[in-house]
Amino acid sequence: MKKMPDKIAIDGPAASGKSTVAERLAEELGYLYFDTGVMYRAVTLAALKHLSRVEDETAVTELAQRVCIDVKPPSMDDGRKYDVFLDGQDVTWEIRKPEVDQNVSQVSAYSGVRQEMTSQQRRIGERGRVVMVGRDIGTVVLPNADLKIYLDASVEERAKRRHKEVLERGRSETYEEILSSMRRRDEIDSTRKIAPLVAAKDAYILNSDGLTVDGVLQKIHALLK
Ligand code: C5P
Repeated sequence: MKKMPDKIAIDGPAASGKSTVAERLAEELGYLYFDTGVMYRAVTLAALKHLSRVEDETAVTELAQRVCIDVKPPSMDDGRKYDVFLDGQDVTWEIRKPEVDQNVSQVSAYSGVRQEMTSQQRRIGERGRVVMVGRDIGTVVLPNADLKIYLDASVEERAKRRHKEVLERGRSETYEEILSSMRRRDEIDSTRKIAPLVAAKDAYILNSDGLTVDGVLQKIHALLK
């Protein structure tokens, strides 16, 4: 039997299914599930709250170095997978609001912000027994990961999934609004200079179009064997 990989990196665009798949995989293996997107979302929320412009790279970077972001096991049964705290305040749902979606790619393109987030993420990831999810885990945060997966899906399918989720949460954005915000985010994430969204050379590329979470997990289990 092959040795179980100690560090598993799962990257891919928004709503490719990576968070759900990673969470289930981590639970099955008894590993820590760590969704790095929440950190960029928390910094973006802090910038929207405390600064007049998220375009001010120096101010956003200073803020990223100052704020305290924490992720803990879920304290409530309201569909959350974990609690996210920003300077001690529960922002688990606030980091999912449309204003954050619209600004997070800009904030996460700033080199100082990435430096700060990457070093915090690496410290956690290097402890091992972890399934870490994001855009640059296999390429930058944990280039020595034992298993790298790049999970993809068409933008239409991803927008459809995200639309279903927001309706379930009682929000009223339309499919078209979500599709256009997602296209914009994909474009910025994939073309930024530092740590762009790209599959690592040694990543397995899985397309989740038309596949259920179980279907994707089956493919990952085949890789683990
Ligand atoms: O995964 P999620 O959609 O929550 O991520 C939000 C945003 O955070 C992404 O669109 C991307 O701009 C940024 N991000 C990143 N690097 C990561 C994780 C997320 O740049 N490792």
